Amino acid sequence: MLATLMKAAGNVGVDPSLINTYTLRRIRMKSKSPIAGACLALLSFLCIVASGSADAQTNPPPTGEAIVRAGTQASRPGPDEFFTGRVRVDDLWAADADINSSGSMVTFEPGARSAWHTHPIGQRLVVASGVGLTQEWGKLTQMIRPGDVVTCPPGVKHWHGAAPTTAMTHLAVTGSSSGRNVTWMEKVSDEQYNAR
Ligand code: MN
Repeated sequence: MLATLMKAAGNVGVDPSLINTYTLRRIRMKSKSPIAGACLALLSFLCIVASGSADAQTNPPPTGEAIVRAGTQASRPGPDEFFTGRVRVDDLWAADADINSSGSMVTFEPGARSAWHTHPIGQRLVVASGVGLTQEWGKLTQMIRPGDVVTCPPGVKHWHGAAPTTAMTHLAVTGSSSGRNVTWMEKVSDEQYNAR
């Protein structure tokens, strides 16, 4: 059944990776009948297709001007799995049906950096404070300073982080496709980080 659902998802333009065993379990919990289960699955797909993307379902855009007040959204640490050193992420907004990009302020302590990664539909970085470094795979590391705007095109492997002895904070605006905005890869080694 999983393979059939994934094929059906692909046929209607839904990312098949959204269909997983968790989805199936939820459908089965709702009904013991395979036919009713299949109808539920079809309804789920139609909802996703009708809304244009998975993000639109989870983050309906506000109908009027909205202000999210400073201090109402908790900071979180950048996970060790994807970052080297101490990194703080302040999520600002999620992608929605109006603007399909999320925004976060990310602060890297000296020497801290992301792992190598790509973005399915790209990213823009605006350096807010400090001094940072960024590198595209196969190219030289570049220093970035407040006001610099970095364009990371879709699928281009890169990393970003702080300079060795100076922290850096940047705004990251990241495009989202089917609820995904990044593909993580290996960590940036000390040798790669220190190469100039
Ligand atoms: Mn990036």
